[in-house]
Amino acid sequence: MPIRVLSEQVASQIAAGEVVERPSSVVKELVENSIDADARDIRVETRAGGKKFIHVTDDGCGVPATEAALAFHRHSTSKLTTADDLTRISTLGFRGEALASIAAVSRLTFVTRTADAPLGTLLRLEGGRVVARQESGRPPGTAVTVEDLFFNVPARRKFLRTERTERRHIDAWLTRYAMAYPALRFALIHDGRTVFQSPGTDSLRDVLVAVYGLEIGAALLEIPPVDPRPASDILVTGFASPPSLHRANRGYITLFVNGRWVQDARLTYAVIQAYHTLLPSKRYPLAVVIVQLPPEEVDVNVHPAKAEVRFRDGDAAFRAVQKAVRRTLLERSPVPVAAHAPTAWPSTPPQGGQERHERLSQLRLRPAGEQRRTEAESPRAESPGDTLPPLRVVGQLGTTYIVAEGPAGMYLLDQHAAHERVLFEQLLAERQRATVASQALLEPQPIELTAEAAGLLEEHLELLGNLGFQVEPFGGTTMLVRALPSIAAQADPRQVLEDVAAALEIGDAPLAGTVEEAVARQVCKQAAVKAGQVLAREEMEGLVRALERCTSPRTCPHGRPTMIHLSVEQLAREFGRSG
Ligand code: ADP
Ligand code: MG
Repeated sequence: MPIRVLSEQVASQIAAGEVVERPSSVVKELVENSIDADARDIRVETRAGGKKFIHVTDDGCGVPATEAALAFHRHSTSKLTTADDLTRISTLGFRGEALASIAAVSRLTFVTRTADAPLGTLLRLEGGRVVARQESGRPPGTAVTVEDLFFNVPARRKFLRTERTERRHIDAWLTRYAMAYPALRFALIHDGRTVFQSPGTDSLRDVLVAVYGLEIGAALLEIPPVDPRPASDILVTGFASPPSLHRANRGYITLFVNGRWVQDARLTYAVIQAYHTLLPSKRYPLAVVIVQLPPEEVDVNVHPAKAEVRFRDGDAAFRAVQKAVRRTLLERSPVPVAAHAPTAWPSTPPQGGQERHERLSQLRLRPAGEQRRTEAESPRAESPGDTLPPLRVVGQLGTTYIVAEGPAGMYLLDQHAAHERVLFEQLLAERQRATVASQALLEPQPIELTAEAAGLLEEHLELLGNLGFQVEPFGGTTMLVRALPSIAAQADPRQVLEDVAAALEIGDAPLAGTVEEAVARQVCKQAAVKAGQVLAREEMEGLVRALERCTSPRTCPHGRPTMIHLSVEQLAREFGRSG
């Protein structure tokens, strides 16, 4: 073939391919532009996993009318002028490629207004060409709408995955930026449903609660900021899981370098190293590590889309991360409390697993009646999350609650929540030993589900098998249930499957614990005794004994309290007995 110069259009599509791989790359680039524009409020809406529609709005500085069209020229940027600037990049963008690339492979609408302009500018582009331009009213800031991604690149379109997978990639990017910029408010809406929101309170822990849920968010240990000078210019902050909280892979180690999410095997290893001897084998921590260093110490200009950076001194970065995390674990990791000697009752010896919850107990909101604490009370009996003192069952109340008495007063237990907790820990323990008991149904039961639910179950047959299910596709959107986890043997198989599918849908996002735990929670919810069920005394006693053995007896797996505690002192106060 003779050598030819590629047409402008083909060349720009090839270049676009470097930047825009899938819908989430569009979201990433647009959100970065919003952050660079000093926005406080960034909102992302998608339809069909972003394949059909992506809409990002911000309240940032906007683009002056005279420059709007220029923003779509390749290599046009307001963030860099000289090659020298490349050595000290403090913005997320600098190549001036993203808008041009996205516009080349979609139908794009750009509406922007600076604060001092009376009206905004609207530009419409198709396949990179401007097809319309007009004045347009909008509040200061910028809104970019990207429709029909890859409409003119069928080869690319073919490689897009299911909507759910594409959504997941978008979720991952948005939560990363929310973590890197806790002062900004992010919202993510898929197909009309808000799936994620960060509060913009400038507290990373608040963002972590939004991303990982209250239990994990509260348990994470803050890496204390220590001024690195004069030893080095590298500042490491963030959060790391206590040794009792771990994951099956390293995917929960999130790294940021100068506000940029990075994938870096060495720094990831530095975090893992910090946990040396503290974690079971093949288990990994959950951590969000934020590295800040002078821009000239790190090269971010490695690849247009890949999240790679190069450090001038890689060893120093490794050491700084490893040290900061290790120090956090040694200094902040919860230690088992020495057994306090409560006034009147013998204390229970500290039990395994107690330590994990010491810290949780300091942070979690307490149920009504537990806020006040006087010195005379047993601190152990007070803080939710601890191991329980031995309780004596007094009786059942309203066929919903169990009244019990302990060293430090009265306990009112929610029988359903308490049973959920017991079953949940039992199921997870069996799962860890790969000994989950399964019970065959008398007759295999075909259950018709929505296509979405059936699809999700089909994708997770192995996970379900590990939890004691025997389920198989039965044609169309019907699943055949042969066996259920023994603990849920009495539950309605349809109800269980529907709940499990719902958990899979949510648990599938990187936003919620592990998928397996989410499924286990649903199983236990269905299997637990319900409110309104009469319990015999032995049943109540069995339940209370089992709860005492739990690692987290004071909350149900969904995070609600299992019990309310009324202390001896509170009772005395209420009755006017104390002076
Ligand atoms: P880069 O971010 O590398 O500069 P882009 O192609 O992403 O390149 O954007 C080109 C230019 O358009 C930016 O430099 C900026 O001046 C302007 N721009 C893009 N998005 C926004 C936005 N949301 N708010 C304000 N300006 C923007
Ligand atoms: Mg950009």
